[in-house]
Amino acid sequence: MKSFGKKTLMKQRLTKHATLTGALAASLLMLPGILGGTPALAQKADRDSLTYGELIKKTEKGEVKKVELDETEQVAKVYLDGQKPDTQPLRVSLLEQNTELINKLKENKVDFEEVSSANSRAAVGLLINLMWILPLAALMLLFLRRSTNASSQAMNFGKTRARFQMEAKTGVKFEDVAGIEEAKEELQEVVTFLKQPEKFTAVGARIPKGVLLVGPPGTGKTLLAKAIAGEAGVPFFSISGSEFVEMFVGVGASRVRDLFKKAKENAPCLIFIDEIDAVGRQRGAGIGGGNDEREQTLNQLLTEMDGFEGNNGIIIIAATNRPDVLDAALLRPGRFDRQVIVDAPDRKGRLEILKVHSRNKKIDPSVSLEVVARRTPGFTGADLANLLNEAAILTARRRKEAITPIEIDDAIDRLTIGLTLNPLLDSKKKRLIAYHEIGHALLATLLENSDPLNKVTIIPRSGGIGGFSQQIFNEDMIDSGLYTRAWLKDHITMALGGKASESEVFGEAEVTGGASGDLKMVTDLARKMVTMYGMSELGLVALETQNSDVFLGRDWVNRSEYSEEMATKIDHQVRTLAVSCYQEACRIIRENRALVDRLVDLLIEQETIEGEQFRKIVAEYTQLPEKPLAVEIAGKR
Ligand code: ADP
Ligand code: MG
Ligand code: ZN
Repeated sequence: MKSFGKKTLMKQRLTKHATLTGALAASLLMLPGILGGTPALAQKADRDSLTYGELIKKTEKGEVKKVELDETEQVAKVYLDGQKPDTQPLRVSLLEQNTELINKLKENKVDFEEVSSANSRAAVGLLINLMWILPLAALMLLFLRRSTNASSQAMNFGKTRARFQMEAKTGVKFEDVAGIEEAKEELQEVVTFLKQPEKFTAVGARIPKGVLLVGPPGTGKTLLAKAIAGEAGVPFFSISGSEFVEMFVGVGASRVRDLFKKAKENAPCLIFIDEIDAVGRQRGAGIGGGNDEREQTLNQLLTEMDGFEGNNGIIIIAATNRPDVLDAALLRPGRFDRQVIVDAPDRKGRLEILKVHSRNKKIDPSVSLEVVARRTPGFTGADLANLLNEAAILTARRRKEAITPIEIDDAIDRLTIGLTLNPLLDSKKKRLIAYHEIGHALLATLLENSDPLNKVTIIPRSGGIGGFSQQIFNEDMIDSGLYTRAWLKDHITMALGGKASESEVFGEAEVTGGASGDLKMVTDLARKMVTMYGMSELGLVALETQNSDVFLGRDWVNRSEYSEEMATKIDHQVRTLAVSCYQEACRIIRENRALVDRLVDLLIEQETIEGEQFRKIVAEYTQLPEKPLAVEIAGKR
């Protein structure tokens, strides 16, 4: 976050240097132009040249046939009478003013013309000059930057450097923000504060000064703040917390003062402080005595917030994804005492967001946004906006009229898995990958509780992915976190299907490391089943609990205290579970070997098999378990 602030700073400095170097470069350019020009002129003492005086004399005598004058180069080419046509002309160095010569040439009716080689010469000269000027300029820039860095900061110290943005009208409305209804409802009130403060002050209600928006990146916090300003029709001041934090103590604080001063002049208005955790960290918590500058900035912010009356029409909205690190003083009444959670949207929310972002796009009626929402668990508003944009780009590239399900599908894969690379040539490696992926895909299809297959492909993707088999997410389960034991077991079995298939076909010795990701997932899931969900012989004990802090973006697990002996038991249970699932996977592959081979051949030929085609082929060999989800989605696409 800090680097962001520095970057903007750098930009400013760079522009300053650019003008400086521009002037420098220009003055340097002149020098070599003159220097480079002279040597050619200096050597005039060879046989093919005349002096200026000799030329005038020869002109008077009528011995000159033709003269080409090049005044910029200060040289004349002289063709004498009786000269053989193929001999070189004589060169004569000219003076600054050649009136005498020209008059003489005219008098004697000598054929002469003025040419200018300056242009082409100059261009070449410029190129040559640039070749050594560029590195020089770069070097200078480097020096200048070094030496002025400190001093320019010192000079600007305390000066007003408006680093906040002001938008008189954001143009964003609440209807542009979707999928976070609760947050919107809570903030609806803030709009009223800004629009009709009397309503609240009349009954003696104190208007809150600050609202803290808490949520992961991309969920629409900035958008929401803009929408509040837009709905209330007030100016929007914004600054990022990281921009307060400067190298010199006091700059951040003066910036806070500036910001509030400007805001007061424009009240009613809204101040938005993004990444407030950059300034608002717990004071004195840093290693080595904390950060003086940050503390001063924070103190200034607190002072300003305390300083203005509740009804002067300024509302401060701050955003963070790390509420846990904020200084307690920020959260006291009269400051950011209201906290609004802006979490990643659920399926319904995603659908609403997709609707918002599809308003300005041409989408084929065959696309079901509902299916898209279902297929994108964990996507934030920003991800979804990106998804539709990516799909639109693909559509344009394919010269289609409107976005079809194919583009949506490709865009999802692109965002979740990676860019497609060229297919592998037919090789042993390709067959191995095909067997691995078919192993997953077949198990996903045959296991009763496994989510249905969406597609399986062996088109490689960036990031070292040789292929993948993809299921249609059972979104209800993922959203609620209520996994059934049967689902978990089948999921583990399916995840081991790749390795099982490799070893059944090629033998244990040929198994590749390609399954390492699968194994990690299997271990994680199996461990959770044992230690968190109470789904093993160890019974109903929650040995570990999942940290509910979703914003850390990590699967923090709090280990409760348990004995060494218990740890061994857990490991044993995890291993037993994994081994039994693996054996089941191997059995299914073995019993369906003919089917596996046929699917692999088809996959190598087609490179991708869609879920429906896959299921049709499998149904020729064996009974398919019923999966309503597959039917539902297939019907919609
Ligand atoms: P944050 O500030 O939480 O990181 P932003 O507000 O900057 O997220 O969101 C980035 C973009 O993603 C927005 O400009 C908007 O296009 C889209 N977006 C994010 N959340 C939503 C939402 N809830 N509704 C509609 N669009 C959203
Ligand atoms: Mg933001
Ligand atoms: Zn795998």
